[in-house]
Amino acid sequence: MNIEAVGNALAQQLETDRLLGLRCVPLPAPMSLHALSGVPTSPPQPAPSGVPAAGSRPPPVRNADPEKETHLKVLNDTQVRGCTKCGLHQTRTQTVFGQGSANARLVFVGEAPGADEDRQGLAFVGKAGQLLTKMIDAMNLTREEVYICNVLKCRPPDNREPLAEEILACGPYLHEQLATIQPELIIALGAPAAKTLLQTTTSIGKLRGRFHEYFVSGILGQGPSIPVLPTYHPAYLLRNPGEKGKAWEDLQKAMARLGLSPRVRPSRR
Ligand code: SF4
Repeated sequence: MNIEAVGNALAQQLETDRLLGLRCVPLPAPMSLHALSGVPTSPPQPAPSGVPAAGSRPPPVRNADPEKETHLKVLNDTQVRGCTKCGLHQTRTQTVFGQGSANARLVFVGEAPGADEDRQGLAFVGKAGQLLTKMIDAMNLTREEVYICNVLKCRPPDNREPLAEEILACGPYLHEQLATIQPELIIALGAPAAKTLLQTTTSIGKLRGRFHEYFVSGILGQGPSIPVLPTYHPAYLLRNPGEKGKAWEDLQKAMARLGLSPRVRPSRR
């Protein structure tokens, strides 16, 4: 076994944990020592197709399909920007459609814009957005390589939770976004996003950390589906930093699913 490679991989893990603000060093099952090091224990198993060796980086986005970007732009310009389908249009500064790559393999879905997002017209740009950026960086991705959006496109007053009728009115925009992008994985950030995508009332504490299915048809069990991994919302993690370890475990599962390997830094000689 290459001890130096293992040492480097552990150093990267510690750096990632530091970025997420973790004060302890969890080493959950999905990120075992040999997975961290990229050095296989015996006997070596053939890699599942599409899963790269540690240190290499699979393409963060699929082959560019310009029609996807055009479709999302038309949806935003012709339907969302001037939408008055629910009462939130009366209190918003502007709609927040979402941003990132229309060809992303990974989509993050939150619940609704906050004050900063409402002001800037961009999803996840406040303090919670800064933590989400760290989470994405810890996954060895950039915000430009993923897609980030919310269930609601307008800010609820005082950041209250979305109402059922607001989700019903706004949901079709999210479903259209997901049906267009067709990511390989959706990470649902927080209870409202997870419950909306999975059409369930189960708590986020019970949903998180496991893969579920989002049915593109909108009908449970019917037609093609996209895996959904619920985890805690960054705003919740800011209020409850002790839960960051669980969120990091969830992100590691997402990385394994997407074949993303930890960042490998050059060894110091
Ligand atoms: S929250 Fe959604 S449905 Fe309601 S006004 Fe805004 S864009 Fe329209």
